[in-house]
Amino acid sequence: MPIIEVEKLHKRYGETIAVDDVSFSVEPGEIFGILGPNGAGKTTTVECIEGLRRPDSGEVRVLGLQPGRDRAELAQRVGVQLQESALQEKLKVREALDLYASFYRQPADGDELLQMLGLQDKRETYYRKLSGGQKQRLSIAMALIGNPEVAILDELTTGLDPQARRDTWELIERVRDRGVTILLVTHFMDEAERLCDRLALIESGTVVATDTPAGLIQRVDRGQRVRFRPSAPVDDALLTAIPDVTGVSRHGDEVVVTGSGNIVALMVTALAGEQIVPLDVRVEQANLEDAFVALTGQKLIHDDHESTR
Ligand code: ADP
Repeated sequence: MPIIEVEKLHKRYGETIAVDDVSFSVEPGEIFGILGPNGAGKTTTVECIEGLRRPDSGEVRVLGLQPGRDRAELAQRVGVQLQESALQEKLKVREALDLYASFYRQPADGDELLQMLGLQDKRETYYRKLSGGQKQRLSIAMALIGNPEVAILDELTTGLDPQARRDTWELIERVRDRGVTILLVTHFMDEAERLCDRLALIESGTVVATDTPAGLIQRVDRGQRVRFRPSAPVDDALLTAIPDVTGVSRHGDEVVVTGSGNIVALMVTALAGEQIVPLDVRVEQANLEDAFVALTGQKLIHDDHESTR
């Protein structure tokens, strides 16, 4: 049985159609991502899953239950990452965790969670004294304190520095390894590509595609692009003669070869036969960003790690 099932979800706010026919299902033990630009309908979809909003039409099932009807039961079994403003500034880390633990029938071990999140030294620290990264990790602890079967994490690494983001990704993988199914909402390509087993690409309230990151990339695979500077003049014919090379072009003194398969090795060998060495070799492959652009005709607006939400 899928952990989360969303079928033909539709939700509008007045004239604005926020979600227009969204369907996907999340299997046990997955890290499933909802990826899309700001305004795509991600939060509205997740709020319907959390039972905070009632869909205009469509079905949502979480652990076989209906979020609108079975909210109390689901609150015990689904962990939701708190938004930053939700915690009182004057609570100490340990007090906040104890308070939230008291809401649950079978809470997790708070000390163990703090240890896992690298917050063990902050037990007696006031919430307001935590750094951005520490607050973020505490919000993940809050999502896990109820020992949930499912955790819903929204814009997990917004505002974190690169090292803290990588640490958080490792942490989420450890959480998944403990058997928690994870629904991750993000507008960061790198995060989705690195962390998610499967993804639903959402744009303008609809699901454009659902697949593994590799599967999505493969759909638009433009092959490889290899760039290098030859140590001596090279004839295009030498390169176009290589099987799987589809094109050769030049930019200044740089040669750009496109193709698929093992073209790098074959190219190096062909050049070596002419006593030419490829210098400054760079291999570029399609990534999730390329897939997103190809599938939606749109770019995600944010290249930085700040949110405008
Ligand atoms: P995302 O999470 O992908 O940024 P949202 O679900 O927040 O997308 O928003 C989808 C669309 O619905 C946007 O056009 C947004 O402006 C609109 N919207 C979201 N919440 C409300 C609301 N409470 N009232 C009116 N419009 C809303």
